[in-house]
Amino acid sequence: MLIYLDNAATTKPCERAVEAATNALTNAFGNPSSRHFAGLDADMLVIKARDTIANALSCREDEVFFTSGATESNNTAIMSACENRLKRLPRVVTTTVEHPSVKSCFDKLEKMGAEVVRVAPDENGEITAKMLFDAVDEKTCLISAMLVNNETGYILPIEKAFAMIKRKYPNCITHCDAVQGFMKIPVKPGKLSADLLSLSGHKIYAPKGTGVLYKSKDVHITPFMLGGGQEKGFRSGTENVPAIAGMGAAVELLSKTISERFEKAKELKEYLLNSIAQIEGTFVNSKDSSSPYVVSISMPNYKSETLLNYLSDRGICVSSGSACSKGKKSSVLQEFGITPERTDSTLRISFSNETSKQEIDELCKTLKNAHDELCTIINIKK
Ligand code: PMP
Repeated sequence: MLIYLDNAATTKPCERAVEAATNALTNAFGNPSSRHFAGLDADMLVIKARDTIANALSCREDEVFFTSGATESNNTAIMSACENRLKRLPRVVTTTVEHPSVKSCFDKLEKMGAEVVRVAPDENGEITAKMLFDAVDEKTCLISAMLVNNETGYILPIEKAFAMIKRKYPNCITHCDAVQGFMKIPVKPGKLSADLLSLSGHKIYAPKGTGVLYKSKDVHITPFMLGGGQEKGFRSGTENVPAIAGMGAAVELLSKTISERFEKAKELKEYLLNSIAQIEGTFVNSKDSSSPYVVSISMPNYKSETLLNYLSDRGICVSSGSACSKGKKSSVLQEFGITPERTDSTLRISFSNETSKQEIDELCKTLKNAHDELCTIINIKK
């Protein structure tokens, strides 16, 4: 039995993505930069995927750049946007709940002398558009804020915040890490007033090792990867054609069903919350208004790892936080106002398009068994 409920960490590639990637590996293995027919066949697949993704984002094809994943997209967006601007505009703004691939860039910028403003959630665990807007001033070169938090599903008010910022500070570059929102809620960089936007393939049923950086045609940033001049000179390195073809195929399939899948995820979240409420001593960390695809819960009597291993031994995969933290404590939950006791005992449950109520029943039954068995071992009064 495998019950996979860790889809915010990665997803199982869908059949269409596997077919497209296999086709690229077997029938179009040429280098897309080669001008013979084998190269052109590979190039056609990249062109098709770019076209599909541009359509899904409602942007131009020459605004879509393939990368090795969202980590690279985030690094490129942030470091390259600042490269030639920091001297004139020394301030940069982000939030305290970003993914490490964003957070680490701001830590580095700070060491390089930038004035870094990190907006933290308020006492209600909210980051409002006004809080983001107020952090920006006329000396700010960049704001980077995520659309959906990967640990709690919290949705940040990017559309409103970036619109306000762009109106008052048109020189401030806006970057959004939209990894956990793409193909789950509508993500259109134009509507979000995002100059730069990062996406990852493996969170949307495509192979690992590919992602996208959307870059508005009106914004110039220096390339990060230098070399053979692929991706119109913006991102050198031979394209990962199988993964790109897979990502295009996945987006083609998913972009037609965003709202119906969202409704299904909402129903699953409600079902999970009702079942979790029956298990003694559980807390829900995610808000009602959070993305229904990610639910963070805590069972404060037990360490996350204990529960994670108990579930894993019984064929159920969840996460103790974000996969990227690899057991290291994440500060993000505490930033959202969740107590240390609760953060130490967190489980993140994240749904795919295939998740069923029966799987949620099995998860909750196993969590209840865990509580019944473990509480006698560690002597908790039931
Ligand atoms: N940003 C967010 C919000 C993520 O959840 C992740 C993946 N954990 C990333 C960035 C990094 O994506 P990738 O694995 O494609 O580098």
